[in-house]
Amino acid sequence: MPSTKKHIVIIGGGIGGLATAILLAKQGRDVSLYEQLDDLGGKARQFTVDGFRFDMGPSWYLMPKVFEHFYTLIGEDIHKHIKLTRLSPAYKVFFEKNHPIIISGNLTQDAKTFDAVEPGAGKKLEKYIQKAGTTYHTAIDSFLYTNFNAVHKFVQPQILKSGPFMARVATQSIDSYVSSYFQDNRLKQIMEYPMVFLGASPYNAPALYHLMSYMDFEEGVFYPEGGIYSVIESLIKIAKKYGVKLHTNKPVNRIIVEDGKATGIELSNTVIPADIVISNADLHFTETRLLPTQYQSYPEGYWQKRTAGPSALLFYMGIKGSLPQLEHHNLYFSDDWHKNFTDIFDNKTWPRPASMYICKPSATDTSVAPKNHENVFILVPLPAKDMTKSEQNTLTKQYFNQFKQLINEPGLDKRIVYQKTYSPRDFTTDYNAWEGSALGLSHTLKQSALFRPRNKSKKVKNLYYVGGNTIPGVGLPMCLISAELIVKHLSHDKTITPLGTLPEIK
Ligand SMILES: Cc1cc2nc3c(=O)[nH]c(=O)nc-3n(C[C@H](O)[C@H](O)[C@H](O)COP(=O)(O)OP(=O)(O)OC[C@H]3O[C@@H](n4cnc5c(N)ncnc54)[C@H](O)[C@@H]3O)c2cc1C
Repeated sequence: MPSTKKHIVIIGGGIGGLATAILLAKQGRDVSLYEQLDDLGGKARQFTVDGFRFDMGPSWYLMPKVFEHFYTLIGEDIHKHIKLTRLSPAYKVFFEKNHPIIISGNLTQDAKTFDAVEPGAGKKLEKYIQKAGTTYHTAIDSFLYTNFNAVHKFVQPQILKSGPFMARVATQSIDSYVSSYFQDNRLKQIMEYPMVFLGASPYNAPALYHLMSYMDFEEGVFYPEGGIYSVIESLIKIAKKYGVKLHTNKPVNRIIVEDGKATGIELSNTVIPADIVISNADLHFTETRLLPTQYQSYPEGYWQKRTAGPSALLFYMGIKGSLPQLEHHNLYFSDDWHKNFTDIFDNKTWPRPASMYICKPSATDTSVAPKNHENVFILVPLPAKDMTKSEQNTLTKQYFNQFKQLINEPGLDKRIVYQKTYSPRDFTTDYNAWEGSALGLSHTLKQSALFRPRNKSKKVKNLYYVGGNTIPGVGLPMCLISAELIVKHLSHDKTITPLGTLPEIK
């Protein structure tokens, strides 16, 4: 007998697509997921070569409670799937001219470090983090887990109480907010760099995102054994357990719309009928390439008026011997911070010198590199625009030289046993990423919270969107929340807090 269950089709197997598939299959839905690449995980994929295992994109495991909540919701014990280590130190920061600063992840210790740089800054750090914690918890309890479809829910006493402060941090830039606490450029950079995680510039991102520093300094920076991909592996395993049909190497060419309703998808030579279609593919691509013009809620004109988050040049390197000057997470900030962001967001030119992030997971996990070798990943944030092969070669040399100068390691060139770079063009080719952006829509005020594209088509019934370009936003934990928001839609749940249990899906 043919199944009478509603068939749900998901386009794209990034973390958002996988998480949505699990939530819906767990509720008894018939779910099929179609991913265009050979592997699942999207930007959180992994590759192995010559005994090295590289996470291709994300490397910071932040907001552990959001991951824990997701696993609890699906009836799984996260600790049976993911073994976490809290990193100590949390990260090391290098500067162009000054000595590096280590952020330990212990607030008392870090306050002393701040005091040594700027007398009195330790107490200010504690006050800053206390406020960041309040905003963080307000966000979890009131803003992140909502589809913004029940305005009266926001007229709650605790939200009203924090109203004036919230109004201030929603309208002021984080750079000006941070400057009201700290004067030293290095300390300001440490409080502002998390904006890059949100694909935003500190000169343009609302001070609301000071909440990010609560994660660094108080909640902790974690590492899942085996790398970030171990999260994806566990989601794949759970998806299979609930019967999700996972198809790779299946690019979707079109969302079929009949009488204003999504009725399926088209692959290269097959039509897959569906009762509900959920796209986890890049939202710009979904809207402008998979749908006919009359059914686009966010047509090309919408995107032309929006700000893309940065792209990046990524280096994956296997290095013989050790690099003791690097911790697990390392950041390098160029002195002219303002110019660095102006180059990326306004002038759209390749920054020289560039700020960069260097990850050495072999500091924590011996399984990511052969014995006596280091696994090194470098991320150079760049403007979201195409990079030719010749530009890629020139910039690879230039940024690698910058890295060499930074770590000052004799004979490094001869010790590189593996090197591969990944450019903005690769983001476009692999993920259909809008403007080759690594992160999608930047989290400026006008592109945050209720101003971000919604996760439900305004023009096509039964068509939904999940992932970093929709609400609540960029990052692995946000994409898990995004999946939960789809369930809220399908179950007509208008609550603003995390779900206690999985509701029945209508
Ligand atoms: C370099 C980098 C570093 C990052 N660092 C961090 C970090 O440290 N911590 C953190 O939390 N987050 C980080 N992020 C952000 C995080 O990785 C993303 O927000 C998240 O992985 C996006 O997931 P997603 O569900 O939106 O889908 P994506 O990962 O974008 O996946 C979408 C999938 O859809 C597929 N697809 C596209 N078009 C089609 C089609 N036509 N047919 C079928 N399939 C299609 C794509 O191939 C892809 O697999 C980083 C991102 C990058 C790129």
